[in-house]
Amino acid sequence: MKVNSGDFVMPGDFLSVSEQFLPGDGAYEDDGSVRSGVPGNVNIDNNQKEISVISKSGSPNLLKVGDIVYGEIKDLRGQRALVTVYSKKGTDRQLALPYMAAIHISQVTLAYIDRLSDAFRIGDLIEAKVVKIMGDNLDLNTEDPGCGVVKAMCTKCRAFMKVDNSEELYCPNCDRKEKRKISENYDD
Ligand SMILES: [Zn+2]
Repeated sequence: MKVNSGDFVMPGDFLSVSEQFLPGDGAYEDDGSVRSGVPGNVNIDNNQKEISVISKSGSPNLLKVGDIVYGEIKDLRGQRALVTVYSKKGTDRQLALPYMAAIHISQVTLAYIDRLSDAFRIGDLIEAKVVKIMGDNLDLNTEDPGCGVVKAMCTKCRAFMKVDNSEELYCPNCDRKEKRKISENYDD
């Protein structure tokens, strides 16, 4: 299959192999392929070797390295916290792709931590920085003071927790204390 300038494409549609073209606006690289991130019309720039997709609804809301995102911890697996990404900080616009992300234990905090469960629990809402993008998969980092958990529930009674100190939250309902990597933007 070959696409031409002006062709209408949908998110995820194959545009080119990545040896041939670089992804421009509205496109992304995914495991050797360049794919569309938005519904729109293909624009091929043969001089710059770039293929982009012009969306009718304005520029697509694709993430880039350095963006700050909000997400929810879905699972803790070995050395990785798995995160569903909900939105980019500073915009209400829906993201162009259903991003999934992971935070490696070495990317959680500048201090050493033994276990991921000392930083995150399933269901925590977090703020994190995008450090790597592979199609719709992201690597995130929460080392910055503004990154980390911004809202968490007590694992015992599910009440929303409050900040106790820089490393711990407490439950106003059952007095339980739990460790987290707490963002300075925690919603107390
Ligand atoms: Zn509690």
